[in-house]
Amino acid sequence: MQVLVYGAGQLAQMMYLEGCPMGIEVLAVDVKNEQVVHPVTKQTVDITLEQAIENAVALTVEFEHVPEHLLEQASRSGKLLPSIDTVLAGADRVREKRLLTKLGVANCPHQVVTNIHQLDDCVEDLGERLILKASRDGYDGYGQWRLTAHSGLAALKSTLQGLDLATVPLVVEQMVDFDREISIIGVRDKLGNTRVYPLAENLHHKGQLHVSVAPALNITDSQQKQAESIFATLAEGMDYVGVLAIELFQCGEQLLVNEIAPRVHNSGHWTLSGSDVSQFNNHLRAVTGLPLGQSNALNVNAMVNVIGCSSFSSDLLSIPGCHLYWYGKTAREKRKMGHINLTAENYTELGDKLLSLSEYVPLEHFPKLVEEAKRLKSLSVA
Ligand code: AMP
Repeated sequence: MQVLVYGAGQLAQMMYLEGCPMGIEVLAVDVKNEQVVHPVTKQTVDITLEQAIENAVALTVEFEHVPEHLLEQASRSGKLLPSIDTVLAGADRVREKRLLTKLGVANCPHQVVTNIHQLDDCVEDLGERLILKASRDGYDGYGQWRLTAHSGLAALKSTLQGLDLATVPLVVEQMVDFDREISIIGVRDKLGNTRVYPLAENLHHKGQLHVSVAPALNITDSQQKQAESIFATLAEGMDYVGVLAIELFQCGEQLLVNEIAPRVHNSGHWTLSGSDVSQFNNHLRAVTGLPLGQSNALNVNAMVNVIGCSSFSSDLLSIPGCHLYWYGKTAREKRKMGHINLTAENYTELGDKLLSLSEYVPLEHFPKLVEEAKRLKSLSVA
C-alpha cells in the first residue's frame, strides 16, 4: 500500500519510517520541482507524479504551503486527506480566521488589513500592542511584525510600505498576554472516530518552537475539556481525516486558538518515543482507513529541537530514555536539523535529564534548555 506525501522534509521522512513496519510505503513529492522522491534519501524515484497519484491509496501533505495547482490535482483524484479546503485554511490566515469564526472557536481578537491605512483602525479597536502576520507564506516567525506602542506606528507603516496587501493581506492580532502556549494534537478517521494525545506545553524562542513537554503540567479539567472540545469542533466541522494540530494560548482558564496545522506537528514529535502509537503512525492509519491506535502518554516526555547546528556530542545518547531523530540536512540558521526526545518517570527526573542534555550540546543553539530544566524541577517540587 502506498501513500504519497506532498512535501519532502522531515515530516514525510518520519511518516515513511513509521509506515515501514505496517507495510505502508510512503513516497514524497518535492513540490518545488514536482518530482517524486524517496522521503529519506530524497533521491528521485523513476515515476511520474501522475503515476504516483494513481498508485497511492491516499495522498496527504506534510506542510500546508503546497502550491494550489498541485493540491487541486491531488484533490481531483479523490484521495487527498485531509481535504483541499482544510489544507488551504491552514495555509492562509484569513481563511483560518474565517473558519474559526464560522465554527465559533475562540481565538485572538483580530482584523484583516488589505490597505496600510487600516492600521489606524486596528490600533483604535485592538489597542497599541499588536502582532501583524502575513496571511500567507509566513511560519516560524517569518512574515511577522510587532507594534508595542503607538509611537512605533509610523515606522511600522514605512516598513510595510512595499508589501502588496491587496494580494497578501495581513492578519493583525491583539497581542495577548497568555500564561503559556500549549497544543492539542488529535486524529480523526474516515468514520469519524477520534483520538487525542495529552496536551503539550510549548516553549518558543524568536517565533520558533524549541522545547515541548508532554503531558503539559498542571492542566485543569476545564482546560482539558476546552481543548478537546476545540479539537472536536474543528475536526468535525471540517470533516477532517488525519492528524490535526491546534496551537493554543492559555489565558487563565481560557484557551484561545493561535493557529491550526492540518498535518502532523513538531509539538507532537514526543509521541515517537512517548506514546503507544505516534502521530505519524496514526496519521497513516487514518488516511489509509486502518483502525486508529492508542494516543496515551506512556511516561513524561520532552522534545528538544536541534535548530541551526549539527555539532554536539553524540554521547548525549548515554542519557537513559534519550532518543535522537536526525533529518539529514545541511545546517543553516533557524533550520530544524533534528530533535531529541527524552522520556522519564516524572517531571523532576525529566528536568534532571534536560540538565544532563545541556552538557552535551552547544547552549547558544538551545536557549530554552536550562531554563526549562530548572522550571520543571521547581514546578514538580511545588
Ligand atoms: P505564529 O506564527 O502565529 O504561531 O506566532 C509565532 C509566535 O508568536 C507564537 O508562538 C507566540 O509566541 C507569538 N504570538 C503569535 N500571536 C500572538 C498574539 N496574538 N499575542 C501574543 N503572542 C503571539
